[in-house]
Amino acid sequence: MNIANWLHNAAQRWPERGALFEGQRQRADYHSFAAQVRGLAHQLVHEHRVEPGDRVALFMKNCCEYLELMYAAWWIGAVVVPINCKLHRSEAGWIVDNAGARVVFSDDGQVFAPGELSDDCQELAGRGRVVAAIGEALATPYSCNADHLAWLFYTSGTTGRSKGVMLSHGNLMAMSLCYPLDVDAVASRDALVYAAPMSHGAGLYNFIHVRCGARHVVPESRGFKAEEVFALAAGLGEVSLFAAPTMVKRMVEQARATGYAGEGIKTIVYGGAPMYLADLQDAVDIFGPRLVQIYGQGESPMTISALSREQIADRQRPEWARIAASVGRAHACVDIQVLDAGLRPLAAGHAGQIAVRGPTVMHGYWRNEAATRQTLVDGWLLTGDIGYLDDQGYLTLTDRCKDVIISGGSNVYPREVEEVLALHPEVFEVCVVGEADPEWGESVVAFVVGRGNRPPDERVLGAWFIERMASFKKPKKYVFLAELPKNSYGKVLKTELRQWLKEAAAS
Ligand code: AMP
Repeated sequence: MNIANWLHNAAQRWPERGALFEGQRQRADYHSFAAQVRGLAHQLVHEHRVEPGDRVALFMKNCCEYLELMYAAWWIGAVVVPINCKLHRSEAGWIVDNAGARVVFSDDGQVFAPGELSDDCQELAGRGRVVAAIGEALATPYSCNADHLAWLFYTSGTTGRSKGVMLSHGNLMAMSLCYPLDVDAVASRDALVYAAPMSHGAGLYNFIHVRCGARHVVPESRGFKAEEVFALAAGLGEVSLFAAPTMVKRMVEQARATGYAGEGIKTIVYGGAPMYLADLQDAVDIFGPRLVQIYGQGESPMTISALSREQIADRQRPEWARIAASVGRAHACVDIQVLDAGLRPLAAGHAGQIAVRGPTVMHGYWRNEAATRQTLVDGWLLTGDIGYLDDQGYLTLTDRCKDVIISGGSNVYPREVEEVLALHPEVFEVCVVGEADPEWGESVVAFVVGRGNRPPDERVLGAWFIERMASFKKPKKYVFLAELPKNSYGKVLKTELRQWLKEAAAS
């Protein structure tokens, strides 16, 4: 059950099919992809003494080598530790150390200063490695069972110190097999474009595309630029990509400016953060039936629920807005429950913590028994997200547990306040958090980025809000910003906004 068998199989079946692309230029077919992986695997074993179960960290921007190095590690039964490339070197060093990695690959092998990594860990250049032909050595991947550890997924840590989510080969396979069932059919002519970081969702979608012998495309910028994605789509055709909602928003802006309408794009899978209805409407108007939503988290990677392209695109349906504001229905391989504070299941329509059970759910947090015990309870993963199921099985997220604002004893879900403000034509982006308030316990504060960077009038926003929502949810304060602080996965850093408020109150 080694997931590297999927590459082995693809290379045997379709050796001449294009596999790895830098921009529009083919770099390797499936035969040479697998040959390079075996050569790298050989180096890991014989030059760097990597053994099954050892951790191999990657601290690099997106590149074709990223896939080769990950598969080389799996080929020999090692565990990959992909690290968000936007982290500071000291944060990355903390992860390398926490994972107890034996090697860490960076672009040129010279990111960490001498003494910054433990003596047991070696930094190596990940790009441009030359490997020797190795004949029949390591002809097949290391044989392991489904529980063997494959990927330590370090959480984005927006609410505290990052934790290493333990994902096994079985987890990754279950996740991948749900993709064609619930997200999108995959064909060999497809081109998966890695515009979002490969250390996260975009990288996790590689497996099913390897299994189907599809093309893997790393943009020349090694990151995300809307115009580059459009050019790749025009040149390669049948492009699919994973995109955080902020990326979709930028694609919409760029498409509007250039008259582009989605030509060459097959599917945009969005998720990882809330997509506001106002933004989704714009995206559907431009891209039509090309959008699919997923809801997942590192602890059940990319696989909790999905909303299909038909449901997103069918704007004529009377219940469109309600369904489009949801995150869809449970993926084929998981059960979803909504629990009250005492972890008892709630009936449809009642909001509580979302819990998930199934073969995609992590095995626990790496070397963190206490956090594992709090999060995996009676076989259920407690997601820390709040939401409700309706009687047709649609799940709607209201917020993260930690983000709910309790004002005057009433719960205010920032997401619903954001949805209303995001609809205002002068609002480009918005994020709502709670601020300590002597009278109300907490009060609602809205951070707003104005369209065209012009701050909208507070009174106008107040009147807009009051026409649409209960007054106890109304922001007591507006703060206008040029942009919202976000991490490289496109999640707004609410902790920074709260900190900003604390500092402003203290000064
Ligand atoms: P991560 O583990 O970094 O992928 O973060 C997962 C978290 O992102 C989830 O627990 C949710 O709070 C949020 N998230 C993921 N997908 C969605 C979605 N489709 N809509 C809203 N929030 C999402």
